[in-house]
Amino acid sequence: TPPSGAARPRVTFLGTGYLGATYAICYAELGYEVLGFDVDADKIAMLNAGQVPIHEPGLDELLKRNLAAGRLRFSTDMAETAEFGDVHFICVGTPQRADGMGADLSYVEAAVTGLAQHLTRKALIVGKSTVPVGTAEWVEQLVGKHTSADLGVEVAWSPEFLQEGFAVDDVLRPNRIVVGVKSEWANGMLYAAHKGVFDLAATEDREVPLVVTDFATAELVKVAANAFLATKISFINAMAEVCEVAGGDVTQLARAIGYDPRIGNRFLQAGLGFGGACLPKDIRAFQARAQELGAGEALRFLHEVDLINQRRRARVLHLAAELLGRRSGPAGPDLSGTRVAVLGATFKPNTDDVRDAPALAVAALLHKAGADVHVFDPQGTENARRAVPELTYETSMNDAVTGADLVCVLTEWADFRNADPVALGELAAGRKVVDGRNCLDPALWTQAGWEYRGLGRP
Ligand code: NAD
Repeated sequence: TPPSGAARPRVTFLGTGYLGATYAICYAELGYEVLGFDVDADKIAMLNAGQVPIHEPGLDELLKRNLAAGRLRFSTDMAETAEFGDVHFICVGTPQRADGMGADLSYVEAAVTGLAQHLTRKALIVGKSTVPVGTAEWVEQLVGKHTSADLGVEVAWSPEFLQEGFAVDDVLRPNRIVVGVKSEWANGMLYAAHKGVFDLAATEDREVPLVVTDFATAELVKVAANAFLATKISFINAMAEVCEVAGGDVTQLARAIGYDPRIGNRFLQAGLGFGGACLPKDIRAFQARAQELGAGEALRFLHEVDLINQRRRARVLHLAAELLGRRSGPAGPDLSGTRVAVLGATFKPNTDDVRDAPALAVAALLHKAGADVHVFDPQGTENARRAVPELTYETSMNDAVTGADLVCVLTEWADFRNADPVALGELAAGRKVVDGRNCLDPALWTQAGWEYRGLGRP
């Protein structure tokens, strides 16, 4: 039931990366007055100039429109941010800690502390970043330490489920909203801060389920969802491993089991596995936190999920060596003297995000094995070049494929899925292809004279 009397609050988003920039822009589109804050002055300058620092379909146009409408601006000034907002969303990064397991909460701490020190009136601070369970309580204590009690600043948690590549639609039309709150006031403020989403749904004859719960559950919902998705992907990739030794075809297997509505066919594509800035780090941080809380055994399976995922990268390297006629020794295959085209660098299509991208990791493995690696990605080249500068980056698929002894399709961009194997065959030096995403039609490629290898396929 909507709490009554809540007007439209002014909202801020602290951290204008993939999550925060998309939110700030989409919330302005929903009619809110919005301010985005970041410590990265270049990013803020770009956003104020109408340039989206990330590739996300549809976001450019919305940014320009809402800057022009005067509902949206970006700042590096914390005092201005604190003054502006009734509801402040924390959207900073929570990367994997240097020790490899738990989450690094130093950005959350810096953003919350900085904001709290500048608050001069009652406000709601809402965590959106993905965090270990218990963080919201800790943030509440931090806020208590840095604001005077008579301001009555409150904390809430609202985890985020957007998917890069679909982020605009996911923010405007989420499939659920989850809020962890401790008071009716916080609940009402958060309802008001989401009213634009509910109103849009009503005009489109949809409903957005709202789950109101406690802090711990809200935090856990996010990591549980990611653990489930990672497990689903690794499950089908484990089936691919078995198919590889048994002579089965995992794509047909997935289709057949996916018809069971209890299983469902989504997230059941066997391939190179998951990556990106969320799933890998989130399942590791979840295990680390469960361990701290004494429930490590409950999540031990996530370690296997991670290992299955990592093994797929080695499998692609193995298939590449096999097609190139190179034997693998104990130190891996020697691919020196070969030229390999890698199509795809981002962790999935329709983004420029290469963080923990399986495609780029495999490209680096091929390079380490001695191959001359030529990478093409429709959007991720700049980020990939920064992350792995030792590879050669091409500006078109044709340039990458020209003269290649082997082509590896490692991100399922539509351009690659729809590529013409006959035309590419004329450019390549050898018609050999590893389909790391099972996104090509093997019959079509084989007819065009290519030797084809997919994952989990005979
Ligand atoms: P990102 O690295 O793209 O953005 C983080 C931003 O925070 C950067 O712009 C950085 O400059 C800024 N920042 C760092 N310290 C700051 C501070 N003290 N004050 C203000 N800004 C600061 O990260 P992201 O992908 O947007 O992810 C942010 C959070 O959202 C993470 O916890 C992530 O797990 C979660 N999340 C991300 C996605 C996604 O698809 N990217 C989806 C759901 C949840």
